[in-house]
Amino acid sequence: MIPLMHVILDVGAEAEQAGARKFREVLEAKLRKEFLSEDVRIVESANLGVSGQGVCMLVYPDEVYYGNLKLSDADRIVDQHFINGKPVEELFLDSPEMRRLMAWRRREGIIKKGRGRVVLDNVGAVDPENLAEYKSRDGFRALAEAVRGGTPEGVLDTVKRSGLRGRGGAGFPTGMKWEAVREAPGDRKYVICNADEGEPGTFKDRIILEGDPFRVLEAMALAGYATGAEEGYVYVRGEYRTSIDRLENAIRKSREAGYLGRNILGSPFSFEVRVKEGAGAYICGEETALIESLEGKRGTPRLKPPYPVTEGLWGRPTVVNNVETLANVPPILRNGADWFRKFGTERSPGTKIYLIIGHVVSPGLVEVETTTSLRELIYGYGGGIRGRRRLKAVQVGGSSGGIFDPSVLDEAMHFDALKEKGGILGSGSMLVMDETTCIVDMVHGILNFFLHESCGACFPCRIGNERLVRTVNGFRSGSARPSDIDLLEEIASAMKVASYCALGQSPFLPLSTAIRYFREEFEEHVNGKCRAGVCRFKVLKERQEARRWTVVMSR
Ligand code: SF4
Repeated sequence: MIPLMHVILDVGAEAEQAGARKFREVLEAKLRKEFLSEDVRIVESANLGVSGQGVCMLVYPDEVYYGNLKLSDADRIVDQHFINGKPVEELFLDSPEMRRLMAWRRREGIIKKGRGRVVLDNVGAVDPENLAEYKSRDGFRALAEAVRGGTPEGVLDTVKRSGLRGRGGAGFPTGMKWEAVREAPGDRKYVICNADEGEPGTFKDRIILEGDPFRVLEAMALAGYATGAEEGYVYVRGEYRTSIDRLENAIRKSREAGYLGRNILGSPFSFEVRVKEGAGAYICGEETALIESLEGKRGTPRLKPPYPVTEGLWGRPTVVNNVETLANVPPILRNGADWFRKFGTERSPGTKIYLIIGHVVSPGLVEVETTTSLRELIYGYGGGIRGRRRLKAVQVGGSSGGIFDPSVLDEAMHFDALKEKGGILGSGSMLVMDETTCIVDMVHGILNFFLHESCGACFPCRIGNERLVRTVNGFRSGSARPSDIDLLEEIASAMKVASYCALGQSPFLPLSTAIRYFREEFEEHVNGKCRAGVCRFKVLKERQEARRWTVVMSR
């Protein structure tokens, strides 16, 4: 039986400490008492994208967030919301800003309409462990149609015409990648789903895998069908425990139902999927390092060319697609390329999942068309800046993305939008910073991350990252010279040219844009001033103190 409602209960560390498991027991008892156990299904999620809100849950299809829940609230929610259809407004995530945001979303019709959803339309709406629920929403229809009446060329043609571009960061056309693998000589080919989501503040792939794992498997099988591959691997971060468990459950159930394994649905096509857990190295998100790791070696990048499409896993042609990219494939094949092209722009069709994090009222993720502006994302979906502060900066595209001032607010967030301003869309993450943020300190955090994650295989990245961190530290401690601003850019430029892989090239963009848009702040730090009051200028103070003592002693 398909339930009428789903409750996504946050069972992350913070919520669990606040009593999420106990709350679940009480809620289940009440549902049993009211004979609603079949109609309302509770699904656990490791994180709902909000923090500091105790026990939280999200109710579908109404898309209502409840937060700071006490055990006694369970009865009230069941009676008033689930039975009488009136959400309990007093229990909405508890802040006036959140209530304003909910009111805005209702007014704009975002709630209920599920506006613009392609990838996330099942997330929250189906039980991710239940194959029947996935099938009830056209799940596996695209695969069944392909293997029963379609052709690999037909599948490939639809994906190419849809204009789908890779959602992992580079935006490479997916159809072209599949075609290259199909045309590459070789009797064995592979499909890899890259779920090694290591970018700080990025968690969209986890939400897809936790909420709709069958769809990713269907997409991988379709990729295999189109390219001639019979084996697939999901390379997933080891910390994503719930994702791994749900994937393994989905693989088992799909195999039992004939959607994976030998002779899928009685056709000559066979496809098998295995899960490989990554150990958490950021560099393994790079496709060739990921392949090395899959082969059981140390995860260091390979020199390209040859590219994985001709020489990938075990030296065979390999498709490597990110989770979000793959999740677009089944709806494209069900509804057609023209349907997909109705969303977004000519060169960036479809929707995109954006992660709005940092100093916003309502951090989390949202799937909208690629024509959506940064302003709409921050002030509409994100609810604006927390605590009535002003927006100071936004980093678009994850740690390796550009840091901009508010002048970019009206840019539409598609793949080519920020190129002119020196930015990339990358993972689609938007880190919003208010005026309490020190840009120099923020850049230091990013560079430290790259230093930590550098695999050390090539010296421009290994030594360059260390020099960058040391130089930026000089600004924070008060020992920097004015020429150090240009020195930072010089080092990052040299790394961009000489590094072996994309990680070594990554510091350039955040650093160069931070200097372009916030140069004044770097200059102020040379003179011992941090307008956000974050930097302590320890060295500068020690020097000033030493100078003072020298003067005193010489008197
Ligand atoms: Fe390793 Fe950095 Fe060189 Fe890439 S650029 S191979 S991460 S040292």
